[in-house]
Amino acid sequence: VSTMSRDNTPTRRTTATIKRYSPAPGGMHRYEWRINPGEDIAEMTKPEGYFPIISWLSHKASGDPTPIDASFLDVKRTWEYTFHERHAAQWRVGRIFLLGDAAHLMPAFAGAGMTAAIRDCANLVWKVKAVLDGRADQSILDSYQLERSPHVAITTAYSQRLGRIIQVKNPIKAALRNAYYRTIKHIPGLREYTTSLKGKPVPGFTEGFVSSVRKPGSPVGRTFPNYDVGTENGRMLLDDYVGYNFAIFGLDVDPRTLMDERTVDQWVRYGARFVTIRTATLIVDADEVGDPVGRLWEWFGRMNGAKLAIVRPDHIVYAVDSDGGSLGPL
Ligand SMILES: Cc1cc2nc3c(=O)[nH]c(=O)nc-3n(C[C@H](O)[C@H](O)[C@H](O)COP(=O)(O)OP(=O)(O)OC[C@H]3O[C@@H](n4cnc5c(N)ncnc54)[C@H](O)[C@@H]3O)c2cc1C
Repeated sequence: VSTMSRDNTPTRRTTATIKRYSPAPGGMHRYEWRINPGEDIAEMTKPEGYFPIISWLSHKASGDPTPIDASFLDVKRTWEYTFHERHAAQWRVGRIFLLGDAAHLMPAFAGAGMTAAIRDCANLVWKVKAVLDGRADQSILDSYQLERSPHVAITTAYSQRLGRIIQVKNPIKAALRNAYYRTIKHIPGLREYTTSLKGKPVPGFTEGFVSSVRKPGSPVGRTFPNYDVGTENGRMLLDDYVGYNFAIFGLDVDPRTLMDERTVDQWVRYGARFVTIRTATLIVDADEVGDPVGRLWEWFGRMNGAKLAIVRPDHIVYAVDSDGGSLGPL
């Protein structure tokens, strides 16, 4: 191909995302690189076009001098694409909602477009059902954009920043970046932080369908932890145990005993599950989860000694009792 140099390695002015040693699901690997001006896309998507680049990138990333054997390569797909960035101003008109890429597009560098789409669905669907079942007022539907849009905006900005690092064209900046990444490979903690994109913005909002009273540092509007817990049916992740329902947790106490009767009735109308967390055990009864090493206990401890947490079907914390706010649905 046109990008081969005299020593038979591709001379690329740009970098690539390489997953040789950290395969994607299904044991697959994804290689991406930018098409430079003057390069022929049709040529690049032929084996003669992409194989030398994959081989070269793999070698560069791993330092492993063993060349990849082309006959072992089972190529599932080659594709050429362009990134766009869009953010719709209005995600709802009456009964019509925009979700996923229809509402927002971001460059793919953070691997977050589909996850944002899934979060959109998780955020909206229980609200639509609550309205259809006559349990909630239609105004709850406006909280969808209010809650999701800011997270999408900061994730898009994060993705752009990653793109600027990945696609740097200036050779000096690229060399500095490469030196930085080669160095942090040897620094545990920083290596994991970088390779597993730990800096990706976590969801969190202050306006929407959440208890209106919260203290600084409150978990309200953020995701509830998804730990491994004991249940009457064995160990599982807390999210799997709870399912797509409201869940009201009490730390070593039946949460109903911490609320007045009217509030309990209101949550029953929302289909809430009442779950008692039992600390330092895996052996529990129905409507209880065991917190074997006290990770949930620690979480509650950090919330100014809260004993009760109300969690929405999308696993966002609606309220904690230490905030002293309304524990009933707004
Ligand atoms: C190269 C690349 C890599 C990516 N990597 C990641 C990643 O690692 N992680 C991640 O989370 N996200 C990633 N994304 C983003 C992710 O693919 C999208 O955000 C996600 O597919 C959006 O899902 P969606 O259902 O909203 O839209 P789409 O996947 O676009 O689905 C919309 C569907 O509607 C169909 N359709 C359109 N018009 C009509 C019509 N009139 N009638 C009927 N059907 C219609 C389309 O054919 C399509 O099947 C990546 C994107 C790209 C381009």
